[in-house]
Amino acid sequence: MPDIRPNRLSREEIARNFSDLHPPLSHSEALIEADRCYFCFDAPCTTACPTDIDIPLFIQKIRSGNVRGSAHTILAENIMGGMCARVCPTEVLCEEACVRNTHEEKPVEIGLLQRFATDPILDDGAQLFSRAETSGHRVAVVGGGPAGLACAHRLAMLGHDVALFDREEKLGGLNEYGIAAYKTVGDFAQREINYILSIGGIQVNAGVTLGQDITITRLRDEYDAVFLGVGLSSVNWLGVEGENLPGVENAVEYIAELRQARDKGELPVGRRVVVIGGGMTAVDVAVQSKRLGAEQVDIVYRRGIDQMGASDYEKNLAKTNGVTIHPCARPLKILGPGHASAVLFERTAPDDSGSIADTGETFKLEADVVFKAIGQQLRDGVLDDGSIKMKSGKVVVDENQSTSLAGVWAGGDCVLGGDDLTVTAVQHGKVAGIAIDRYLRTRENRNG
Ligand SMILES: Cc1cc2nc3c(=O)[nH]c(=O)nc-3n(C[C@H](O)[C@H](O)[C@H](O)COP(=O)(O)OP(=O)(O)OC[C@H]3O[C@@H](n4cnc5c(N)ncnc54)[C@H](O)[C@@H]3O)c2cc1C
Ligand code: SF4
Repeated sequence: MPDIRPNRLSREEIARNFSDLHPPLSHSEALIEADRCYFCFDAPCTTACPTDIDIPLFIQKIRSGNVRGSAHTILAENIMGGMCARVCPTEVLCEEACVRNTHEEKPVEIGLLQRFATDPILDDGAQLFSRAETSGHRVAVVGGGPAGLACAHRLAMLGHDVALFDREEKLGGLNEYGIAAYKTVGDFAQREINYILSIGGIQVNAGVTLGQDITITRLRDEYDAVFLGVGLSSVNWLGVEGENLPGVENAVEYIAELRQARDKGELPVGRRVVVIGGGMTAVDVAVQSKRLGAEQVDIVYRRGIDQMGASDYEKNLAKTNGVTIHPCARPLKILGPGHASAVLFERTAPDDSGSIADTGETFKLEADVVFKAIGQQLRDGVLDDGSIKMKSGKVVVDENQSTSLAGVWAGGDCVLGGDDLTVTAVQHGKVAGIAIDRYLRTRENRNG
């Protein structure tokens, strides 16, 4: 019998395990940290920020006691600066580029300072932005994740009326259903969304699915422009025998259940958990299973440890939480009978070209639950009318997030060439919002 059950840990242990991974800085800690910044002229941290936040400027404002001004500097470029302060892999973005690394091997804690500046604004809901005079243009935004929300906010700021559609009742996309619970505790995702919507001019249509209730053709007919930020909501298949056995689960769905659970301890968790994949999702489901009380958690990845999608920080987080990582192995078969009981793997030999060769050497890991975390794809039927150019299952866009179909823009995980991060999705939404505004104004001028 598989050993899968809830309440493996006490309430207190669960509360501790799912509390803030990086607790916020106190006022004095923030001032000390802000003092460490050199306010570099050619700030490499800003160059490394996908949303181009003027990092030395916001840190300078914290230093001079202008926390509201600091939040304005951040949110003007990245309206989800609060969420990004919690979830950005800063260790491979702004903080990796910080010159303090060279001098002290410790960057300025940019992420925590960003949180220090933005939390008070989201706590009291103070509106820092206002809408431009109404343009009379109507734009449809499909998807209420980071890409769609950032696009909707920018368009609303520029004076356009936005109709936002999402198939879920709750907005937020993976901010609400995907990000690890200890990175964004409590109801932060919804508070941030409320703040974004409070600018006005964004009409939310929840529970409406593109490809089912609405089509791109209809949206193009009814609106002046369309933005698609539908993410990737279907999980990739392993393609091995036993994949359909009970006990083989989609990591993203389990994480969503965990994020929505009122009492996390009530969520059943396996005693032995095997995770197949090497990215952020794999690490998140592994660490969260461990923090729910799983005894043995193994991540198995087909290439070398350096080729894993998860950053060094995340790999370390997995290890310090007692997760074992097995690089260079691929699943051959999930064993039953009747329910997943083990996974048979074959060791691989990755070569320099990036391909992997089989070695013939096999090993087996016992499992009560097997999580698939090998990436997601666009759900069938969403954009299947062939009118938009796609490549490798994703939407092709130009530098303005414009698709091959006139009047349609796209951004976030569903487009080709992104790096599947919240901050990148926000940037895509912002860039598209600015491009759509330019398109609408140009058309207006042309038509007199
Ligand atoms: C488990 C997990 C953990 C992650 N952790 C991190 C992290 O720590 N840090 C980080 O930076 N990134 C992380 N990411 C990546 C990050 O969450 C995504 O890159 C980001 O959410 C992409 O934003 P998006 O708006 O493109 O898509 P999504 O967030 O997926 O939002 C898409 C929205 O579109 C809606 N939608 C989908 N299809 C339709 C349809 N047909 N009709 C209408 N609406 C539709 C969905 O309901 C959803 O609201 C993680 C991802 C996963 C899966
Ligand atoms: S690189 Fe570091 S020290 Fe320089 S401005 Fe950015 S945060 Fe400050």
